[in-house]
Amino acid sequence: MSYVDYYLNRITMYKLVAFSLSILAIISIIFGYSGALTISGNALLLSFVVISAACFGARVFFSKLFKVTMNDESSLITALILFLILPPSSQADQLVVSALVGVLAIASKFILAVHRKHIFNPAAIAVVIAGLLGLTQASWWIANDVMFIFIILAGLLILRKTNRYRMFFIFAGFALGITLLQDFSSSESLVTLLKTSLVSFPIIFLGTVMLTEPSTTPPNQRLQLIYAAIVGVLVGLRLNVGDFYVTPEIALVIGNIFAYSSHASMRKRYKLVLESITELAPEIHMFTFKPDAKIRYEAGQYIELTAAVKTPDIRGNRRTFTIASAPAEDSVSFVIRVPRKTSAFKKALINLKSDDSVYAQHVAGDFTLPQDNEQKLLFIAGGIGITPFMSIIKFIVNTKTKHDIVLLYQASDKSHFIQSRLFKAAENCGVKTIRVTAPLAKDELEAIEDIRNRLVYISGPDGFVKMYRSIFDNHNITSSGIKTDYFTGY
Ligand SMILES: Cc1cc2nc3c(=O)[nH]c(=O)nc-3n(C[C@H](O)[C@H](O)[C@H](O)COP(=O)(O)OP(=O)(O)OC[C@H]3O[C@@H](n4cnc5c(N)ncnc54)[C@H](O)[C@@H]3O)c2cc1C
Repeated sequence: MSYVDYYLNRITMYKLVAFSLSILAIISIIFGYSGALTISGNALLLSFVVISAACFGARVFFSKLFKVTMNDESSLITALILFLILPPSSQADQLVVSALVGVLAIASKFILAVHRKHIFNPAAIAVVIAGLLGLTQASWWIANDVMFIFIILAGLLILRKTNRYRMFFIFAGFALGITLLQDFSSSESLVTLLKTSLVSFPIIFLGTVMLTEPSTTPPNQRLQLIYAAIVGVLVGLRLNVGDFYVTPEIALVIGNIFAYSSHASMRKRYKLVLESITELAPEIHMFTFKPDAKIRYEAGQYIELTAAVKTPDIRGNRRTFTIASAPAEDSVSFVIRVPRKTSAFKKALINLKSDDSVYAQHVAGDFTLPQDNEQKLLFIAGGIGITPFMSIIKFIVNTKTKHDIVLLYQASDKSHFIQSRLFKAAENCGVKTIRVTAPLAKDELEAIEDIRNRLVYISGPDGFVKMYRSIFDNHNITSSGIKTDYFTGY
């Protein structure tokens, strides 16, 4: 798996989804021509070309009209999803309709948006509108036995990258469970029913590719699981009122309405204007920006930044960063590692001049303080993994609340510690910092005062988090629970 993770860490989630869907599209077109699929290769190829061209044209048009930069990969993903769910055809009239659905999908990102953030999954809402207008319905043709194994592989990669397994399993559990319960009385055996539901019904595709879209997903795990359950129940029930059916795309759109209303105030797209860049330690820089509106977040959460990268590399122009400032501050800061050999994205960041801007969206994350201020905590930070703790500790210092926290801060070398006055100031609020340049062993962890009663937070690069997590899991060192925050991408 580490081999897979190595490659997954080299690309962004958007690139992975675009790449996986492109592979599915190419394989299906080849199978169309070879006769492995019942759909003709010409119909598949023509539909693919027409939908992609319509989405691309609409992207250019609406970006200019609304003066908003939009990622090519986002419109490609939308085009590919539509290609994989709309009925493929070589008939001119159906192709025109497919093109129109493509335009509707892209338009929805601009028009059905609040504060520059779209509310609905673009492909799903476009198909729903087309259905209501009597133009076309989704056929979900990609859900078939020939493509099944490829959908599973693409879905697994996306889930591994996005770490949205729980969401997927809740969704699939409800969708599949209710489908089986409803059809159980039929003459089919349970195994046949299970196979038909998994292979011919779009549970895997919808649950891995469409349900997990970050723009339309709630920001924390509790809401994400409710969202997944709502969509799963609706997909499983297949309700109908007269001729009106709750199709999978309608189920997703209803889920989107829940997701939007559950955190409407956090779903803004912000323009951040650069105030300063300060080097805190070798390769570690603090970027401070002035947002165009107050960003609502909890200390410890993260946000996605989009920068104008003139010549983007394979990693694209968006990244997730923990917000290192505290919620009450007017400015927002990020502490970012910029290695000597760095990505095009980070080159663009480090070359920002005063008053240059980037965009920020999708505040999310559960790596926040517990409700109970009395709960004793152990924070473990590896290198750049210190950022959520900086925000939490600033919050504690600003609000002058008393806590019992041990911060174990590990860096590869003494010169790599962020020498912040913050940690000194935090001592008065009950935050004790221990700096180490090598991992603590089991016995040393057990020697931390009252360790069994401390809720443990671990943050840092993937390997660091897994290493500490396994020590705690294998030796049952605490009985109060463990929270982790993986910094993928290094
Ligand atoms: C929830 C969360 C919170 C995060 N918070 C933070 C944070 O607060 N601060 C922070 O710094 N990071 C944070 N990250 C990680 C961040 O999102 C990036 O993934 C990470 O900084 C790597 O950035 P980069 O892709 O620009 O690569 P870089 O950091 O520029 O490079 C990383 C490595 O990849 C190599 N590399 C770079 N570009 C390429 C390329 N085009 N092809 C091949 N190899 C290349 C480099 O040589 C280097 O070894 C967070 C991630 C998550 C998921």
